[in-house]
Amino acid sequence: MKFATKAIHAGQEADPATGAIMTPIYQTSTYVQEAPGKHKGFEYARTQNPTRLALEKNLAAIESGAFGFCFGSGMAAIDAVAKLLLPGDEVIATNDLYGGSYRIFTKIFERYGIRFHFIDLSHAENVTNYINDKTRMIWAESPTNPMLNIIDIAAIKKQIGDRNIILAVDNTFATPYLQRPLELGADIVVHSATKYLGGHSDVVLGAVICNDPVIAEQIKFIQNSCGAICGPHDAFLVLRGIKTLHVRMQRHCENAMKIADFLSKHPKIASVYYPGLTTHPNHEIASRQMKMYGGMISITLKGDKMEDALTVLTKTHLFSLAESLGGVESLIGHPASMTHASIPKAEREKSGVTDSLIRLSVGIEDVDDLIHDLSSALDVVGI
Ligand SMILES: *Cc1c(COP(=O)(O)O)cnc(C)c1O
Repeated sequence: MKFATKAIHAGQEADPATGAIMTPIYQTSTYVQEAPGKHKGFEYARTQNPTRLALEKNLAAIESGAFGFCFGSGMAAIDAVAKLLLPGDEVIATNDLYGGSYRIFTKIFERYGIRFHFIDLSHAENVTNYINDKTRMIWAESPTNPMLNIIDIAAIKKQIGDRNIILAVDNTFATPYLQRPLELGADIVVHSATKYLGGHSDVVLGAVICNDPVIAEQIKFIQNSCGAICGPHDAFLVLRGIKTLHVRMQRHCENAMKIADFLSKHPKIASVYYPGLTTHPNHEIASRQMKMYGGMISITLKGDKMEDALTVLTKTHLFSLAESLGGVESLIGHPASMTHASIPKAEREKSGVTDSLIRLSVGIEDVDDLIHDLSSALDVVGI
């Protein structure tokens, strides 16, 4: 089955009780048993829920995985994967990492004796300087946030070779429509389904997908033991969102490409970070690894003044000023004062998060209206 067909059908069949074509929201905490231990495969809703199960099967199918597990948020999914680690283990993670992942690794898991090295994974050979007997996991994200660097997943896998190291990839920005890490050698994929998979800014949910039955068993055990599951209504919303993922992603990418082109010719813009531009340093890897280039763009303004960036942010009307990304509506954000505000200026500037950096989550509105909105906001800036 091809991607679009899987997105709509995988894991789902007409409800056996009524024929309902949409997977019902099984809002129940328990299931009646005929006799002790004699049941229909569902005992207690932390352990199993039919709506969640449909989503887990669907996510496994679209990520080319054998097993899927859903959680109450992307962070809960990342937490479950990090719980595979033991005290003394070491992790090599990309330095251009989602802020919440950096926080859970350094503020929670370092307290349990796990050591994290944050390095530039866009040069895969960098990992060789950090791999040792204690290395248990490599954590990659591609494209990265907010600089949109591309990490060559197959090249990282090659560096690992046959060592017993788990390669985990946060595929939130790309989505399985654009990039399937398990096909490139990753062992685990995690998602914040809050973003493109849900796609309508109306749900918070996370997922873990893998192929190895041993890893799957451990994740299932952690999911059931720690209990950070998603509710059935949230699972329903993401199932519905995924049915249009391929159509939405195509438009996100087309719109973003046109906007990146427009911005790269604009006299007030200093730089445009978009993997689809041939000037992007990782454009070649992106072309090999991804189907299209995604819906996220970052830009800086000439003069790099924070006040100019703040003017743009407050003068757009269609691009709403908000955290998050991946919904049908366009969003605009300012990492230096929002997501990266807690990082000292010198530190954040090292990874490119300068004062005028603006991040765009390009939605699927009419692209002419979006360009007009950005153009009018830029007109107000006195550069
Ligand atoms: C949002 C996000 C997360 C966290 O997901 P939540 O659903 O907000 O918990 C993790 N990784 C990336 C790349 C994200 O964008």
